[in-house]
Amino acid sequence: MKIQIYNTLTHSKEEFKPINKEEIRIYSCGPTVYSYAHIGNFRTYVFVDSLRRVFKYNGYNLKHVMNITDVGHLTSDADTGEDKMEKAAKKEGKNPYEIAEFYTKAFMEDMIKLNIDMPNIISKATDNIDEMLEMVKKIIENGYAYETSKGIYFDVSKLDKYPVLSNNKVEGQEAGARIEVDPEKKNPYDFAIWIKAPENHMMKWDSPWGKSYPGWHLECSAISEKFLGKHFDIHTGGVDHIPIHHENEIAQSKGANGIIPANYWMHCEFLLVDGGKMSKSLGNVYTLKELKEKGIEPLAYKLFCFSSHYRNKLNFTFDGVKASQVSLNRLRDGYLKHKNGNANIEENKINEYEQKFHEAINDDLNMPLALSVVWEVIRETDKSKEYAKLIEKFDTVLGLYLKNSEKYIKIDLEIPENVKELLEERKKARQEKNWAKSDEIRDKIKELGYAVKDTANGMEIEKVQ
Ligand code: AMP
Ligand code: ZN
Repeated sequence: MKIQIYNTLTHSKEEFKPINKEEIRIYSCGPTVYSYAHIGNFRTYVFVDSLRRVFKYNGYNLKHVMNITDVGHLTSDADTGEDKMEKAAKKEGKNPYEIAEFYTKAFMEDMIKLNIDMPNIISKATDNIDEMLEMVKKIIENGYAYETSKGIYFDVSKLDKYPVLSNNKVEGQEAGARIEVDPEKKNPYDFAIWIKAPENHMMKWDSPWGKSYPGWHLECSAISEKFLGKHFDIHTGGVDHIPIHHENEIAQSKGANGIIPANYWMHCEFLLVDGGKMSKSLGNVYTLKELKEKGIEPLAYKLFCFSSHYRNKLNFTFDGVKASQVSLNRLRDGYLKHKNGNANIEENKINEYEQKFHEAINDDLNMPLALSVVWEVIRETDKSKEYAKLIEKFDTVLGLYLKNSEKYIKIDLEIPENVKELLEERKKARQEKNWAKSDEIRDKIKELGYAVKDTANGMEIEKVQ
C-alpha cells in the first residue's frame, strides 16, 4: 500500500518514494539537554515514534539517527544570546557536561516510559566536533562563508534560493525586528556556523580561528551526513525548526555538498497550553513526572497525542489528559475482554478492519482515524481472540503496551478529587520547603485511605488496603 506523507519542502502531501527501498534513512533533530524535556517536546518525539512504526508496519527497514544537542544552541534559535548549556551550568553550579549527562539520562528514561522506539544511532554534538570543523572548512572553500570578529558566517546571498521551506520571508528573522543587526554581516539572514568563544566561555575547541565552538545548526548537518550520507530520505523536527534551524541546515548542506540533504521534511505542530505557547517564563511547562503526580501515566499522554493529527495544534488541558487516561484504561479492558472471548470471526471482517487501519496510518499518519478503527474493534459485541490479535497488531503502531493490559488494569488510578487537591497542596508545601505542612497533608491523605511515598521520581500514591 502507498504511503502518503506531507512534505514541508513542497508544501504538499506526496507519495513516499524511498531512495533505497531496502532501508529508509531518517534523521530527527534531538533535544537540547539543558533541562527536563517537557510534554510539548515529547509530542514531537511521539510523532517520530509513529513515523518509525508506520514504516515498519509497511515492512521497511530503517536507519534512524538522532542528535543530542549539548553545545551551541543559543537562547535565541538564531545566533544571539547565551549558550543554553552554559546558562544552565552556571545556574546549577555544575559544568555543562554534567548538565548534559543528567538531562540526557532523564530524556531517555522518559522516552522509555512513553514506549518510544529508539533511533538506531544517537549521537552527541560534542562527539562530532571534527566532522563539524571539516564541514565549516568545506563551506568556506566552496565560497559560502566568511569570517567576522565573532565567527564564521554563512553567506545566504550565495544560494540560488533562501529560504526554501518557509514560503516567503523568514519568520522571526527580520533584521532589526527581532534580532540585532550585526554590521559585520553581509546580509541580515547570514548566520553563524562557527562561533569564536569569549574568554570565559566553558565549551570551546581549538580551530583555525582560535578557541571556538559550533553553531547549533551545524551539528545536524554534520551528524546526518556522517551516519546517513549526503542524501537521505526523511528529516524531522517540530514546526519551530522550519524558519531557522532547518533553513540553515539546508543552506549548510547545499554550501558543502551542493544538495538539499533530505527528500522529505516533516514537522510536528505544537502542543499548546490554554491556547497559547508552552513556555518556562509563563510557568505552564509540564513534565511527564508532573502528570504522573496527578495520576496520569506517560502512555495516557501518548494516547492524548493521538487525539489530534500531528500537523494540527493540540491544546493541552488536564481534563483532556484525564479523559485519555480513562480511555487508556477502557482500551486495556476492551482488549482483555476480546482476549478472553471465544467467538469465531469471519476472516473478511478482520481484513476489513486491517485495511481501514492501514489506510489511515498510510495517509500521512492519521492517528485519530486509526484510533477510531481500534475503538470499533474494541466495541465489537462478539468477543474474540482474533480481535485481540488484531489489536496487538495495531499496537505495533500505537506502542501502548496493550499486551500488558492485565498488569496495568490492576492499578486503581481513580484517585478522588479531594485527594488530588491535597496532593497539589502538598506539592506546593514541599516546593516551599514547608515540611511541617507537607507532613500534615500526608496524614490527612492517609485518613482518606491513601498512602503517599516520596521517591526520586516525585510523589507516588497508593490505596491503603
Ligand atoms: P529542543 O530541546 O528545544 O531542541 O526541542 C526538542 C524538540 O521539541 C524539537 O523538535 C522542537 O521542535 C520540539 N518542540 C518544542 N516545543 C514544542 C511544543 N510545544 N510542541 C511540540 N514540539 C515542541
Ligand atoms: Zn537539528
